[in-house]
Amino acid sequence: MTRYAFFEGEIRPIEEARISVRTHAFNYGTGWFGGLRGYWSEEREQLYVFRIYDHYKRFLQSGSLLYANLPYSIDDLVAITLELLRREGWRQDCYIRPVGYKADEIIGVRLHNLRDEVTIFSTEFGRYIQAEEGAKVCFSSWRRIDDNMIPARGKITGAYANSGFIKSEAVRNGFDEALVLTQEGHVSEGSAENFFMVRDGVLITPPVHSNVLEGITRRSLIHLAQEELGLTVVERDIDRSEVYVADEAFLCGTGVQVAAIATVDHRPIGAGRMGPITDHLRDLYFRVVRGEEAKYAHWVTAVYE
Ligand code: PMP
Repeated sequence: MTRYAFFEGEIRPIEEARISVRTHAFNYGTGWFGGLRGYWSEEREQLYVFRIYDHYKRFLQSGSLLYANLPYSIDDLVAITLELLRREGWRQDCYIRPVGYKADEIIGVRLHNLRDEVTIFSTEFGRYIQAEEGAKVCFSSWRRIDDNMIPARGKITGAYANSGFIKSEAVRNGFDEALVLTQEGHVSEGSAENFFMVRDGVLITPPVHSNVLEGITRRSLIHLAQEELGLTVVERDIDRSEVYVADEAFLCGTGVQVAAIATVDHRPIGAGRMGPITDHLRDLYFRVVRGEEAKYAHWVTAVYE
């Protein structure tokens, strides 16, 4: 399979997509990105990209937080992505990574009046957490970056050093993933996933003001839980110890998909394995992303004609 990337305005062989060490975004973390999944349906011989318009809407919003000045609309980025995937000819699940970045080769941290570029590439991607059916999670000793430090609702590359500290500490301590608290001590999210818990049949997730990334999977699951499972969903501050006594908990995101949490800080959540609501939502999610739910066909975009 020949690999391509969209780079400096054109789809080119991936080997030609290279940046200089002098690039502003490389020096200062002044990039922003997205992460999308393409799901292959063997039955229909079709590749479906999940919520591509919503992903590019958030991508452009992240860019505008960094004063990006781009010549691309959402429709342009969708068209470029579909063309890239067709060129590569994916016939299996894949992951798509658009990155915007401050491309000037200058010294100095300012964000404004710089040249912005977008690159898009795709790659194979299986599970982000191996134990998707029952992850071992801890609370991080780090805090989630605050919106007044680096905008949390922007997917800004520099902010992912914070995610890196959280993830590595967790994994090196023998956990699959970590939950991270806000400065005020409420649950924010995972290192690169949103968080949900179930208490007495109610689905609860931290609100957008808890420095979470406004996840597209999060939004999709809230909708599916309300519309298809008839659940009450509440967005509110969550205390650490509420998680310990939750009936169920899970992480969600494009990468992690829907990953049940088995334990938090070695304490079993519910029965210490995937709970029934998580199981149900997870099944539904996987059908939706593969284009198997007609009602949600508008959430997936077919790559091939
Ligand atoms: N939070 C963070 C910090 C993330 O990096 C991600 C992954 N993009 C998510 C949440 C989940 O967002 P989404 O469902 O849009 O992939």
